[in-house]
Amino acid sequence: MKHDIAELKAELLCRGVHIDKLAHKPEFRRGGTGRAGEIYLEIDGAYVNVPVTGKFVEKSPYSLLSEDDSYSLFKDGEFVCDVILHHPIHYEKKTPHGVKKFARVHSASCFGTTIFHSCIHWRRGKACKFCGLELALEYAVPQKDPEDIAEAAAKAYQIGRASHAILTTGTQASRLKEVELMARTIKAIKKRVDIPVHIVIEAFEDMSLLEKLSDADTIDINIETFDPKVFQEVCPGKADLNFEMYMKNWKRAIEILGRNQVSSWIVVGLGEDWDITIKGLEKMVSIGVIPYLVPLRPSPNTPLADVSPPEPKYLLGLCKVASDLMRKYNVNPNTNLGGCTVCSASSPLKEVYNQ
Ligand code: SF4
Repeated sequence: MKHDIAELKAELLCRGVHIDKLAHKPEFRRGGTGRAGEIYLEIDGAYVNVPVTGKFVEKSPYSLLSEDDSYSLFKDGEFVCDVILHHPIHYEKKTPHGVKKFARVHSASCFGTTIFHSCIHWRRGKACKFCGLELALEYAVPQKDPEDIAEAAAKAYQIGRASHAILTTGTQASRLKEVELMARTIKAIKKRVDIPVHIVIEAFEDMSLLEKLSDADTIDINIETFDPKVFQEVCPGKADLNFEMYMKNWKRAIEILGRNQVSSWIVVGLGEDWDITIKGLEKMVSIGVIPYLVPLRPSPNTPLADVSPPEPKYLLGLCKVASDLMRKYNVNPNTNLGGCTVCSASSPLKEVYNQ
């Protein structure tokens, strides 16, 4: 079946794939930052983070079948294409509470970890409704040691599974404590391995904290949505900072890290207003920020678990508008050094931009 990679990626990201017919079920996460309940496929050189859990996947027309170690994708029983399945690598350590995971490789060569597996917004009952961060505490180390992370990154690099590193974190009551551990972890990795380090962190009221993160190569400061009503409803904790504060954070981050090295996740399918979203996209891209558009991923055991993801056409439509804006304001995702924009497994944005 002939396929357009941007369309196929949007389909898989929004609908998921059945893996029940696989003799050996690939491993996937049940919580944590970013996307959970996913596997990583490579199709025509593009990576896709495909959901395999969640009610919505039951209705998916896609199935993954395997023969020996080769994998093929089918839609309604019809062959679509051969794919590569990238198995994750997990790094674990003994703790007083048993053996816990502290880092992993996902997709082909993305080394990642969450330095604080707790978030003040969870503590205050104001967690983002799509977030599964603290669900992973049953099997993850709550606070990571920079030397452990650097050692694991070096190991992954030596076997060709770490071409860049991603450090995420839950937001801490002390933003200074959060930033200091993030900065120490960046330094520790860079001392051991010469790879770009991408960080994901919540916007700051005190912009001087951003300067302490200047050793990073790229950064995500995620506004999640441009629709203030949706932001308040879905991210009640993060919504304490308004759009203007995010604009200030992005502008300062671009001054520190450079053009095309600052991005923000935009979760689409949260009930956002189209016009407000387009206006927000233009404002954000006009100052040089990459809009990393991802479909809502209803993760099990989160408040949005039973919601359906958006339609692939809706996601692609927004990616088209964003790509045209990026060309208008000379924002080029292909020159981004590391992290989500380079990996691109969670969004069809770059495929649409490069069409
Ligand atoms: S800020 Fe929101 S998405 Fe990030 S860790 Fe906290 S609750 Fe989760």
